[in-house]
Amino acid sequence: MEMIEHSSHTDAARRAGGESWLAAFGIMALNSMFGQKDASGVLRMAIEDLLVDDLAVVSSFGADSAVLLHMVCAINPDLPVLFLQTGRHFDQTLAYVKTLSDRLGLTNVQTLVPDSDQLARFDPDADLWKSDPDSCCHIRKTEPLDKALSGFGGWVTGRKRHQTQERGVLSHFELTDDKRIKVNPLAYWDEEDVAAYKKVHNLPEHPLFGSGFTSIGCAPCTSAVTTGEGARAGRWRGLNKTECGIHFDVNKRISPAMAKAELTLFRDGRFVADPWGKWVEGPAPSEARYAHVPLAQFVANRTAYLAGPHPLGLLVGAGDNVEEVASDLSRFSSIAIEFRTFTDGRGYSSARLLVERMGYKGELRAVGDVLVDQIPLMRRCGINAFVVGHAATRKALEQGVQSAIDVFMQPVGVDEIPLGTRCFLRRANHSNS
Ligand code: SF4
Repeated sequence: MEMIEHSSHTDAARRAGGESWLAAFGIMALNSMFGQKDASGVLRMAIEDLLVDDLAVVSSFGADSAVLLHMVCAINPDLPVLFLQTGRHFDQTLAYVKTLSDRLGLTNVQTLVPDSDQLARFDPDADLWKSDPDSCCHIRKTEPLDKALSGFGGWVTGRKRHQTQERGVLSHFELTDDKRIKVNPLAYWDEEDVAAYKKVHNLPEHPLFGSGFTSIGCAPCTSAVTTGEGARAGRWRGLNKTECGIHFDVNKRISPAMAKAELTLFRDGRFVADPWGKWVEGPAPSEARYAHVPLAQFVANRTAYLAGPHPLGLLVGAGDNVEEVASDLSRFSSIAIEFRTFTDGRGYSSARLLVERMGYKGELRAVGDVLVDQIPLMRRCGINAFVVGHAATRKALEQGVQSAIDVFMQPVGVDEIPLGTRCFLRRANHSNS
């Protein structure tokens, strides 16, 4: 195979990071450098030339993982291997992590775990996968991986074209939406290639592989396949879901479920997936979960909602009196304040009552007509999450633009300067700033 000649130009691009490299040579050029089945060549290029000390392997330690990890070990057994310990794996998978690591001599397997606060808040009963598998995958896989990958310029996956229709467009190198390089050495391998490689190198199988588990993820979302079914038919069986969300690509074709436009909740300075669904009438109070029940509905069925086993939210409309639920606040994992129009200020009063007088400390979100100019005012009232549908507001928040207000008609706390009545304070404040 003919390699691109290394030069000072190449080194400069490498020093500047993966994005400059791609700017210099282009993803197309990278993808034209290797034969379709030259997985080792792709991997060696990525490890030794393209992303030196800036690359990690992400492995599920599933049915085919031994192949890629064996190739990695042959080049650099110290390469970081990231394993997403979702907390929902088969025991056999956890045992296989150790078996395979010991057998291959992997020295740098790093276990990633979900954020415990997120789990306690959104999946306290560990059954979110039933009602909202996308959010479950987001909390247990995407978020921990995003965090870990922030330290790398690229990552290696074991995905293959034959696995799903969506993966049928895979190439060896991809540029991800967050400007990282994703490397898929096995993109063109089929089941026969994988089986032959395992046999030649005498690689240990996943303990469940012989029982019909040809693709293995979390236990609740994986089942055995029968003759004639595709290898991944047992993943999220019966659901319209084929990817967990970690494979979100710049072409939006691999994992559309996690497209950025679907991250609608602005919280802690960034947009995240919203695990809460829309309230619909119908299900019994005991079945309500991850939805904000309107205050009047809650009050009318208080006993039943209080006894319900699932995480519940409360929706406070403009005319609602939050003091009616003063003794029930511990039942709610989230409270949504509705702002129907930006001219209606009643939502601010409800928020302040909840936080300042009633001591509510959980998620308090603004829904409805949420505009960027209102957000500082909402924050002052204790609102800490925002469901944003307004395109310009979204853009401003993504760019970190927030309105700044430093004088107030109705000051809160000791730091805010009231407008009008004490102008000497305003002057002092501005002359000090
Ligand atoms: S695969 Fe299933 S259990 Fe695992 S994170 Fe995704 S939805 Fe949750």
